[in-house]
Amino acid sequence: MDCVFCKIIKGDIPCQKIYEDDKVLAFLDITPVGKGHTLVVPKKHSLDLTEAHDEDLAAAISACRKITKACITGLKAEGVNMHVNTKPVAGQAVMHTHFHIIPRWKDDGLKHWPRANIPDGEMKKVQEALKNSL
Ligand code: AMP
Repeated sequence: MDCVFCKIIKGDIPCQKIYEDDKVLAFLDITPVGKGHTLVVPKKHSLDLTEAHDEDLAAAISACRKITKACITGLKAEGVNMHVNTKPVAGQAVMHTHFHIIPRWKDDGLKHWPRANIPDGEMKKVQEALKNSL
């Protein structure tokens, strides 16, 4: 399969490894948004969050927590963002499920998303659509 993260997991492409267990590999992002930007990747291939298996996600979240704590203790990060892009329109470029761990410091220049103003009636419809689709 022509998947860059599967190749990293197999060892065919090098990475700057941070953490590994039987289900998860974590390594530094090659084009980081900041110091310590780490990718946490379930070893079993799935296209995105909607397709990954619960046990792989549980292992990935556990690794995300470990790395979040390491960012705070090891890099003296003052906070951490965890981020997942699902589908290309949301910015997913590598079609293998992964989590971004991004250490944060006061005045690091990174910005959160702008907020939208959704009318009350629309909010109710959105709530129903989501609840009814679970
Ligand atoms: P996304 O946009 O959520 O799919 O994120 C994919 C991330 O993978 C990007 O931040 C890339 O910089 C990163 N990336 C792509 N190839 C490599 C690689 N060989 N080693 C480390 N990070 C990579």
